Amino acid sequence: MAVKALVYQGPQDIAPAEVADPTLPDERGVIVRVTAAGICGSDLHIYGGHGFSSDIGFCVGHEAVGEIVEVGPAVRRFAVGERVLVSASVGCGQCPACFAGLVARCENVAGPLDACYGLSAKLQGAQAEYLAVPRADFNLVHLPDSISDDAGVVLSDNAATAWYGARRARIAPGDTVTVIGLGPVGLMAVQSALAMGASRVFAVDLILERRLRAAELGAEPVDSDEPKKLIRELTGGGSDVAIEAVGADATITLAMSVVRRGGRVGVVGVSQNPNFTMHMPLAQVKELEFTIGLCSVQYELPTILRLTAAGRLNPEAVVSHRLPLSDGADAYRRFAGREDGVSKIVLDPAR
Ligand code: NAD
Ligand code: ZN
Ligand code: ZN
Repeated sequence: MAVKALVYQGPQDIAPAEVADPTLPDERGVIVRVTAAGICGSDLHIYGGHGFSSDIGFCVGHEAVGEIVEVGPAVRRFAVGERVLVSASVGCGQCPACFAGLVARCENVAGPLDACYGLSAKLQGAQAEYLAVPRADFNLVHLPDSISDDAGVVLSDNAATAWYGARRARIAPGDTVTVIGLGPVGLMAVQSALAMGASRVFAVDLILERRLRAAELGAEPVDSDEPKKLIRELTGGGSDVAIEAVGADATITLAMSVVRRGGRVGVVGVSQNPNFTMHMPLAQVKELEFTIGLCSVQYELPTILRLTAAGRLNPEAVVSHRLPLSDGADAYRRFAGREDGVSKIVLDPAR
């Protein structure tokens, strides 16, 4: 049997196609019928032709909510019919790093391509009718009825990533925070900073509409061609923290320069430049703290699920569109083009 999925065919070409019906990875895996799948900024790296592998013809996507339709005999915590959130990060669940929840440091995955769905042909993606989940006891969580599919999709990666970046940059009550890049990850970083007690959050993006969206969520839009200058003026020397959610050289550099002396920078945007030059004298004189990494979603989920259930985080607020999976080619074009009104797009494989 074949299932509907979105498949990477080459740069600017992700389109619906039929792929082989996923089968249980092993006795510890499950099959999930996907009820909602997100398109992430990370998928845009693939769409733009700067993917994480040179593979062609694989199913993309790594953000999903769904219902379990098949369980391997060694799965302990899940049963057929249960509603689950699929963590974007994938770990073995058996090494010391996984025991600590730090999946991104899993000792038994060879690299990022093993650690996430839909980045290569290695692990089939989530923008499909069905998804095979390995080590289900570790890589899935039950989703309470009070949390919608849309919120669950955002929690499965973007909200977790934003919280992770904010947490690692040690945002503390009263801090001033600059968020650079206001896609779904940046908008969740705005919410995270406020939930952590930031006194002011400055929102930087090239697109006015995205700055206004951040303002609706409680940030101060930085409407200037010289955001560094303006934020330094507004804060008397620089914000305490900067969260970078783009991944470009210019924005990582901006994050480092927009913080005050002793400031903290959290980079969650995915950089694909092996030759980025850090201004070492500036970093040293400032006593800059610089964190960067890939989110271990499993580690952040208990906290952000509780904050969402309590109404302190609102992941649904970043979702702008719910489209049929069959409209996937158009959805990618609109998300990549940062079309007016488009933020997070959630795909529905049943439509
Ligand atoms: P997105 O593409 O929707 O958002 C990026 C935003 O950056 C856009 O609003 C864009 O207008 C803005 N931008 C681009 N260039 C800019 C510039 N020079 N100055 C200011 N703003 C600029 O993507 P997203 O889904 O929000 O993801 C953001 C980043 O986070 C991506 O790089 C993605 O790969 C990464 N990501 C990382 C992890 C992780 O674990 N570290 C997880 C998920 C996503
Ligand atoms: Zn992602
Ligand atoms: Zn592991």
